[in-house]
Amino acid sequence: MADRLVYADNAATTSTSPAVLEAMMPYFGEVYGNPSSLHQKGRAAKAAITEAREKIAALLGAKPNEIYFTASGSEADNWAIKGAAHAMQHRGKHIISTKIEHHAVLHALESLEKEGFEVTYLDTDEVGRVTPEAVASAMREDTILVEIMFANNEIGTIEPIREITAAVKAKNPKTLVFTDAVQAVGAVDINVTELGVDMLAMSGHKIHAPKGIGALYIRNGVRILNLIDGGGQERSRRGGTENVAYIVGFAKALEDAVFGISEGTRVEKMRDRLIDEILKIPSTRLNGPREGRLPGNVNVSFEFIEGESLLLLLDMAGICASTGSACSSASLEPSHVLLTIGVPVEQAHGSLRLSIGRDTTDEDVDYILEKLPAIVERLRMMSPLYNA
Ligand SMILES: *Cc1c(COP(=O)(O)O)cnc(C)c1O
Repeated sequence: MADRLVYADNAATTSTSPAVLEAMMPYFGEVYGNPSSLHQKGRAAKAAITEAREKIAALLGAKPNEIYFTASGSEADNWAIKGAAHAMQHRGKHIISTKIEHHAVLHALESLEKEGFEVTYLDTDEVGRVTPEAVASAMREDTILVEIMFANNEIGTIEPIREITAAVKAKNPKTLVFTDAVQAVGAVDINVTELGVDMLAMSGHKIHAPKGIGALYIRNGVRILNLIDGGGQERSRRGGTENVAYIVGFAKALEDAVFGISEGTRVEKMRDRLIDEILKIPSTRLNGPREGRLPGNVNVSFEFIEGESLLLLLDMAGICASTGSACSSASLEPSHVLLTIGVPVEQAHGSLRLSIGRDTTDEDVDYILEKLPAIVERLRMMSPLYNA
């Protein structure tokens, strides 16, 4: 049995915080009305949604009627990409994105390609960064949409979204800019008005709300097809009786996350200690940048090691982490993100992502640093490549 349990997979999901759970509880209980009902039970539920929407809008510099609740970050990504592409296709069928996006974006784009849309997938530099110049020079007369993620879920790279948006708008103000900000929201300062983006996707379970709630910011005036026809909810753009408790929980989680951004330096210090110490292990490389990196993200590759074996031994030691091949573990394909930034295939196979967060303590970091080097050493001793 492990002496301790350390959860270092916050980029995959986070715990629902007690404060969020507490904020949600009344909406599983006495406040059960349908927000569309005119009586007091309905009005109470409706008021909770209105308050949540206003809170989220204020935290992001948006207007309340620009916030649309969805069932996940993936839904928000799909809606933004397909909804905007379909609404704009009379103007052109070209879309620009990157090779390091989340699968909710990449697969939505692939489905548009099957319909005849054309997508340019931009390369990044060796730390995963996309430049405004690269985006602007990929633009064509028929470019209707640019989608660049705000921060990468695997290697933590934060993209210059404000500069990218400015470059796109300077070239063609009608080209829409959408950013998947699922990893960035609550980790970096975000003001949609200052950024100038047209759409921005978020997800609850990455910021200590439950799984199954997300949101899409859609700037007023942006043309996008409705997602679900129904009873007029979400300004008739996404029908279906609202998930009141989860909406309330999401607003509470976002508020706590945004107010906690300044405390991110504590998480950053732990991240940097992990990186510095892990890089002392021989034949180890850091994936992603030193600067401009998500506060909780550590991604490293160990030569001569399989990520899966590493995860297994870490798990036995009580450490929950992730590897670059975990997402597609059925295929054992190395991460598309690591390959894009030029990590050799063997090293991509030996990658480890530790994503810490506000629940992480210095003792957790000590524990990881106590266990990890010995596990790497043990695996290398068993590796024929290493012994050669
Ligand atoms: C987690 C994640 C998503 C998907 O969000 P879900 O709510 O799990 O569907 C999309 N994009 C990024 C960058 C993510 O990290």
